Amino acid sequence: MMQSRWRDVEAEALVEHYARAGVNRDLALRVYSSRLLGGDRRLVLHGGGNTSVKTVMAEVTGEMVEVLCVKGSGWDLAAIEPAGLPALRLAPLQKLAALEALSDQAMVNAQRNQLLDSAAPNPSVETLLHAFLPDKFVDHSHANAVLALADQPDGDALCAEVYDGRAAVVPYVMPGFALAKLAAGTYRDHPGIEGLILLKHGVFSFGVDARQAYERMISLVSTAEQRLQRGPRKGSARSAPPRRPAPVAEVAPVLRGLAGECTDAAQAVWRRQLLAFRTSPAILDYVNGAELARYSQAGVATPDHTLRTKNWPLITPVPEAGRLDAFATAAAAAVARYIERYHAYFACHNTRLAAAKTELDPLPRVVLVPGLGLFGLGKSAKDAAIAADIAETTIEIITEAEAIGRYQPVGEADMFDIEYWSLEQAKLGTTAEARLARHVVLITGAAHGIGAATARAFAAEGAAVAMLDRDAEGSAQAAAAIDGAALGLACDVTRSDDVRAAFDEVCETFGGVDIVISNAGAAWQGKIGEVSEDELRASFDLNFFAHQCVAQNAVRVMKAQATGGVLLFNASKQAVNPGLDFGPYGLPKAATLFLSRQYALDHGADGIRSNAVNADRVRTGLFADGLLQARATARGQSVEDYLSTGNLLNREVTVDDVAQAFVSLALARKTTGAVLSVDGGNIAAALR
Ligand code: ZN
Repeated sequence: MMQSRWRDVEAEALVEHYARAGVNRDLALRVYSSRLLGGDRRLVLHGGGNTSVKTVMAEVTGEMVEVLCVKGSGWDLAAIEPAGLPALRLAPLQKLAALEALSDQAMVNAQRNQLLDSAAPNPSVETLLHAFLPDKFVDHSHANAVLALADQPDGDALCAEVYDGRAAVVPYVMPGFALAKLAAGTYRDHPGIEGLILLKHGVFSFGVDARQAYERMISLVSTAEQRLQRGPRKGSARSAPPRRPAPVAEVAPVLRGLAGECTDAAQAVWRRQLLAFRTSPAILDYVNGAELARYSQAGVATPDHTLRTKNWPLITPVPEAGRLDAFATAAAAAVARYIERYHAYFACHNTRLAAAKTELDPLPRVVLVPGLGLFGLGKSAKDAAIAADIAETTIEIITEAEAIGRYQPVGEADMFDIEYWSLEQAKLGTTAEARLARHVVLITGAAHGIGAATARAFAAEGAAVAMLDRDAEGSAQAAAAIDGAALGLACDVTRSDDVRAAFDEVCETFGGVDIVISNAGAAWQGKIGEVSEDELRASFDLNFFAHQCVAQNAVRVMKAQATGGVLLFNASKQAVNPGLDFGPYGLPKAATLFLSRQYALDHGADGIRSNAVNADRVRTGLFADGLLQARATARGQSVEDYLSTGNLLNREVTVDDVAQAFVSLALARKTTGAVLSVDGGNIAAALR
């Protein structure tokens, strides 16, 4: 049952903290209780919900003016700051209530006109609802328990009965000016209420101070929870789950491939998505439900989820272990039907609107897999996780709604109006994606040196990176230092079961792999006529066979995705220009260079490119540094001089230069079987 998490000591500490920055008490307390709401996923999720406070602030002239501080778009209640609650002059906003109608564009403009700070984010689309309610503090959430009651065919009567005069019920109207007027009118007609239940949408509470508004929210939600528990509750029938479902690591790449689309065949450009997997007993009960096809397709629990999850999830057939081909065929047909349905939905609702809309991509954002669980999908790991979180919450809401009645959210036409809202449409195409956004990159030997630099470079291009290294702690630390989605994994690439396990974990985490940089290596020295067989074999294990094992796993996943892919090998100048006493290193590297070409030849038809980088004289902070020292000493030079004067350009080559070479080969869509030298110029190692 929901409990108030308000603590006076914490609230006062925050008031004191913000007072030092010149933030007034009202706004500081608004921040405090907004975070309490945002921190409970039963109330709001990922940017959902909004809050406001009416207070007084100074204009630039020093004149004090009544303002509404309301959540700005792009802010999440869980982590909101005073800057996330921009101040608007209240009186001019309240005057808007006299208008009969106001378009969304005009409303946004009227709101922006009243900002004290012209650079503030756009105030919430529900700003006028907050402004038109007279109470000082107003809280709005999309609480699960309230939605389980409000998303019922008789939600109106049910909520009226449950709240019995404590809260009034507002019929569904799309957020904006009309809803603000309707809510304000309902409030006037029901003096003394503590809140408003917005059918098919959520709940508002209000109060004279922050604590009262917040605790009324908790109380209204608790009342809904009690009603759900009281029942009578019915169980739901389950379909028989598969005897043995296929592993997530094998299902994910198949779905990832199907849930992407080729947007430019000539350039082999794909609109890929990343996947986030979730499962639990509750999720399994839901996806194995006999009536899954009915309740899962009814629509989103509250309208703004549609922007993250689309209106319906995709349902796949059951993936049975050992029968993945059959699953792939059936899942492909399910995706095709999904896309067809989406096009039909767009065509149907687009015609009833005056201004034609631009169709969004028709790809699913949530996939329900009976026997297994659910996947959230998105253009980044973060977006995929958000879609998965919303899907998981939706399951909780639908399960509760079905237990006491029947889940019936807002209809398709209303959801279309949200998905194709003019203000959302205006944002289309305004932000360019990073060059390697939507890509998953796996790098071996990634804890240090070239591998770590390469991970940073790919992350900077927008990719999610998986960093494998024998040094478990090092890979975890290197991944934690990445700005973006990064997974650090312990992996000894000379052990094939380790490599397989690492690829499995990457598929479970991100859904698959698009670019693999086989970088791990180490130098062995020895005169070739004298070196022991054991040493030579050890070098071949790491400098050749490990590359083969990594590449084979990469091809396996890439073929399951069927969206192409890139293999990149760290060869070495040793592969073309043997160094004295470096046979044990150069021989397997030469084989690896050839390996790269063999992959280009054998898997070009799969859309998989294969290229190599030959780097030389790079200070890595690793094994090669001892080697650099030895060579510099042999020439009577310091390492610094050796590095900066030992090549044609007299320029030192850094790990970041090598990383950029990998990035450029990953981006070179028409290049395969190539070798790129990054050595400042070494004519003896030049390829011919
Ligand atoms: Zn809302």
